Amino acid sequence: MAFEGLASRLQNVFGKLKGKGKVSEDDVNEAMREVRLALLEADVNFKVVKEFIAKVKEQAVGQEVLKSFTPGMVVIDIVNKELTNLMGGTQSKLAKSNRPPTVIMMVGLQGAGKTTTTGKLAKLLQKQNHKPLLVAGDIYRPAAIKQLQVLGEQIKAPVFTMGDKTSPVEIARSGLQHAKDNGNDYVIIDTAGRLHIDENLMDELKQIREVVKPDEVLLVVDAMTGQDAVNVAESFHSQMELTGVVLTKLDGDTRGGAALSVKAVTGCSIKFAAMGEKIDALEPFHPDRMASRILG
Ligand code: GDP
Repeated sequence: MAFEGLASRLQNVFGKLKGKGKVSEDDVNEAMREVRLALLEADVNFKVVKEFIAKVKEQAVGQEVLKSFTPGMVVIDIVNKELTNLMGGTQSKLAKSNRPPTVIMMVGLQGAGKTTTTGKLAKLLQKQNHKPLLVAGDIYRPAAIKQLQVLGEQIKAPVFTMGDKTSPVEIARSGLQHAKDNGNDYVIIDTAGRLHIDENLMDELKQIREVVKPDEVLLVVDAMTGQDAVNVAESFHSQMELTGVVLTKLDGDTRGGAALSVKAVTGCSIKFAAMGEKIDALEPFHPDRMASRILG
């Protein structure tokens, strides 16, 4: 389950605090020391941890809190609120074009879950009565086109492909036109990933962006890679002006470092979370629900 390591540690810390009738400043400091360690162990960016602890302490050690009827609960509420803020505060929704189709470009490193997420996102949109077209723009990974076609068949969504001999820029351009001609109100473009960020990859993505002028550029990152995912997000954001991040493999992420750092470090909101390989395993990312889940 996502975040179980962090969740159990924090629940332990706050369990002790909750049990106390009176909470002293020392108790709060002690709890915050443990929270700090738990967050660092969860692979949250150290600067983010430092600021987080400072913010919580600033609010928690005031006399009003400590003299309140249930001081432990008040401290937990403060932590809950700050964890929520750390992950972006409110849910960040998908943009919608005034002039359909809305164009969504999926970017990321190979293996992050880009193609799978493209299918999942189409399924989510279908559930909201939209008619997404999937565009197979990853021509370098041998199985990517077929994989997208299989996903398309599974959810009965059309997949636009021109094979692997046409340039991805041309595929994206033609795919967009195809959507316009066929009344698809969303176009989701699967793009190529590499094992590492390189100039060729970025150049190609920028060219596609120029041509299709996407409403969303969503970076798909593997949450299990922790701070590496955050670094990838920083690099992509500096070059591609991302509009959002999709965290995948949260089902296998017991630590939670990427989820808790990505927004604070990059300024880029997490829009979706993927929690499994199945086509339904994609949800809008709700910072408040995630915080509550961590605090139990
Ligand atoms: P791409 O190279 O970025 O297009 O990656 P793929 O979409 O092919 O995904 C790589 C692997 O990760 C596949 O085996 C997927 O089934 C798996 N995967 C993708 N998303 C998730 C997720 O949320 N949870 C789990 N457990 N596996 C996932």
